Amino acid sequence: NPVTKEDVLQAVTENDVKFIRIQFTDTMGMIKSWAIPAEDLEGAFENGVMFDGSSIEGFTRIEESDMILMPDPTTFRLLPWRPKEGAVARIIGDVYRPNGQPFEGDPRYVLKQSIAKAAEMGYTMNIGPELEFFLFELDEKGHPTTNLTDMGGYFDFAPLDKAQDVRRAIDFALEEMGFKIEASHHEVAPSQHEINFRFGDVLTTCDNIVTFKYVVKSIAAHMGYYATFMPKPLFGVNGSGMHSNQSLMKDGENAFYDPSTPDQLSTTAKQYIAGLLTHVREFAAITNSIVNSYKRLVPGYEAPIYCTWSASNRSSLIRIPASRGKGTRVELRCPDPACNPYLAFSAMLSAGLDGIEKGMEAPASTDVNIFKLSEEDRKERGIESLPGNLKEAIDLMSESEFIKGVVGEHVFENYIEAKKAQWDDYKAQVHQWELDTYLSIL
Ligand code: GLN
Ligand code: MG
Ligand code: MG
Ligand code: MG
Repeated sequence: NPVTKEDVLQAVTENDVKFIRIQFTDTMGMIKSWAIPAEDLEGAFENGVMFDGSSIEGFTRIEESDMILMPDPTTFRLLPWRPKEGAVARIIGDVYRPNGQPFEGDPRYVLKQSIAKAAEMGYTMNIGPELEFFLFELDEKGHPTTNLTDMGGYFDFAPLDKAQDVRRAIDFALEEMGFKIEASHHEVAPSQHEINFRFGDVLTTCDNIVTFKYVVKSIAAHMGYYATFMPKPLFGVNGSGMHSNQSLMKDGENAFYDPSTPDQLSTTAKQYIAGLLTHVREFAAITNSIVNSYKRLVPGYEAPIYCTWSASNRSSLIRIPASRGKGTRVELRCPDPACNPYLAFSAMLSAGLDGIEKGMEAPASTDVNIFKLSEEDRKERGIESLPGNLKEAIDLMSESEFIKGVVGEHVFENYIEAKKAQWDDYKAQVHQWELDTYLSIL
C-alpha cells in the first residue's frame, strides 16, 4: 500500500485510474463520498478539496458551511470490483476549516486527539474488531428484505451455507485492498456471517472498518444480495456485534502482558479494564448508537448486558481471550457495527487511559454465569447493567463531563441532539407488537 503522495500518483498512472472517490464519515458513521477526476488529485493533495459541510449530519451550521478535505495518501486503495481499465480508487481524508484549522467535528480528528493523549502517556493502541453481518435477499425492485439466504449455523459449511460464494468474493476483494483475512465463517444466526481481519494500529484499523463495511455491501450488491450491519435485524435470533479487541503497546512491548502475575495480566491491563467498566455506560450511546442497538443487548443471544469482566466467561461484557505475550488483549463485547468506529474507539481508548491515569482498580472478575444471578446477587456484587435503550444511553452520555472532554463540545452537542431526535421519532411510533398485543382485546 502506498505511503506518500508520490506513491499514490504513481499508482494512479500505473493502474489507469480515472476517478478517485474521496471519503470521510459524518458524526453518525455514514460514509460521505464523492468522485474527482484522477488529474485533480495532485492539486487535492496540495490544497485539499472544498465541500459544503452544512448538509452533513453533525457538522456545521449554514453560515459556516465551507469545509476542506485533505486526502490522506496512506489510505489510497483501488476498488477491485470496478473495471480494470479506467479504474476507480478511494482515499480517506481529514476535514479542515477554510482557515486551515482541523475541524473538531471530524470523527477522525477526534480519534487522533485520543491517540495523541495515549502517545503522551507512552502508549500506542492496537485493535482487532470482529464485525458480524447478515446477507439478505433483494426484492424484484432491488430493495433490501429480511428474507434469509441460508439456514446455516455457527461454522456450518456448504451446502447449508449458500452464501459462501459471496463471502469468498468479499474475502478476495478485501485481500486485494490490503486486508489480511484471519477468519471468515458463518455465524450463529441463519444468514449471518463474520469476517475477521488482522489487528493493527487504531487509526488504520478504524479506516479499515469503514472500508470493510463498504466492501461487504458493494460485493454483496454486485452478487444480488443485501448485506446489513444493522445490530438486530431479526427478532428471535442473535444480532450482529462488533467485538472490540484492544491492547496498548509501550516501548515495543504489549503493556497488558505480565508473565509474573497469576493471570499474566499487568496492572496496566487491570486499570484499563477498570476504566472501560467505569465509563462504558456513558459511552454506550457511541458504541451502541441507534435505537435498534438495544434490541441486541438482551438475554439469550450471546450479547452482553451486565458490566463485568472475566477471563473466559462469554456472558461478560469484557472477556480476556486466552492468548498471552504479544496477543494479550481485552475484548469489549458491547459495540455493534452501526457505530462510528472513530468515535467508538476514541471513547474506549480514553476510558482505558483514564483507568490507568487514575490508577483505578478493577473489580473481581465474574466467572459465574451472570444471567443466572438474581438481582440481589448482582446488587451485592455491585454489577451494573448497560443502558436498556437509546434514551437511557443518551441521558447517561449527556451527564458525562468525561465523554464531553473526549469527543469535544462540538461533537458532543451535535451527537446528543441528533440522537434525541431519533429517539423522539421512534417513541411516537405505533409498533407492530402493540397492535398484536392490544388490538384484539381492547
Ligand atoms: N452475535 C453475538 C453478539 O451479538 C456474538 C456471537 C459470537 O461471536 N460468539 O455479540
Ligand atoms: Mg469472533
Ligand atoms: Mg462472532
Ligand atoms: Mg469475539
